[in-house]
Amino acid sequence: MLTGPQKMEYGDYDMPHDDGHSVIIKVDTCGICGSDIHYWEIGMGMNGKRNIILGHEFCGTVYLPGSRSDLHAGDRVTALPVDPCGECYACQIAANNICIMANKRNIIGNNVHGAYAEYVRVRPDMVRKLPDAVSNKEGAFIEPAAVALHAVNLAGVRSSDTVCIIGGGPIGILCAMWAKLFGSSCVVIVEVNSFRMSFIASHITVDGVIDGYDADIRKKLKTISQGGFTVAIETSATDTGLYTAIAALKPRGRMVMAGINFYGQPVPTLSLIAKEITVLGSMGYSIDEFDDVIENLAMKKLALEALVTHSVSLEDVPVVFNNLAQKSIEAIKVVVQP
Ligand SMILES: [Zn+2]
Ligand SMILES: [Zn+2]
Repeated sequence: MLTGPQKMEYGDYDMPHDDGHSVIIKVDTCGICGSDIHYWEIGMGMNGKRNIILGHEFCGTVYLPGSRSDLHAGDRVTALPVDPCGECYACQIAANNICIMANKRNIIGNNVHGAYAEYVRVRPDMVRKLPDAVSNKEGAFIEPAAVALHAVNLAGVRSSDTVCIIGGGPIGILCAMWAKLFGSSCVVIVEVNSFRMSFIASHITVDGVIDGYDADIRKKLKTISQGGFTVAIETSATDTGLYTAIAALKPRGRMVMAGINFYGQPVPTLSLIAKEITVLGSMGYSIDEFDDVIENLAMKKLALEALVTHSVSLEDVPVVFNNLAQKSIEAIKVVVQP
């Protein structure tokens, strides 16, 4: 449980209350997300929620099926950690990911208890069965893979596109995988961490990995893309990343901002205007996109298991958060397996 700034405690907590309606899932695997590290830093979840159990990228088995008569105890499942209202303007236009009421709703692992626990309670209609072909580690990757799919979908990536991805963390890597799956012949990742750079070069099918600290980065990006990229996806949420993304684009390029920076960022507006760049914000994913990920995983279109570099137990979570925040472990994705 997150109990204060940089303070996570392992302990015995009450079972999620059975309201007869919600589904209670026995957690098998839960991925640690960059947003969790942010919450850990400030000591509270979304809307300043204190004493919260984090964890929103999970899969497990049904413990209590609640109102889902099609589910049985022991069924392998995952769930969308969201709670769209279904009535606001955004929900009405099928943009449930940007539900206007989101701040007042129950977002699992953000403002209600999440899945760094043995059990997690979820909204019944958000539960999805896991196909046999999808492993537990992959099951915990569905949520971040949906975040990446949404960013790539917003950019409208197709085979004629060249795609520059800023940031080689899990979301950046997943964006690269989708862009390759959609047929892009040139997908390049810009990353500053040497472990991640070599991991990507040896494990991920991309057309280039470029050092974000390279003084010649702009020239290198221009050369590798033969004149510039049609799409840039910014996942680092850094000012340098934003400038690099805009510089990497060709005239009329599209930039998707998929990294969240809570403090606002300076933008080179003159470049945006001079090149007529389209800027798109990307937040979460639609319910259909989450389901798309499950389908693609079942068809073995994405190889995600290799991205899990560490698996830890619940007891280890407080220490692992410390290590991740201090960057003292070299990781792509850490999963918790209670
Ligand atoms: Zn996440
Ligand atoms: Zn809504």
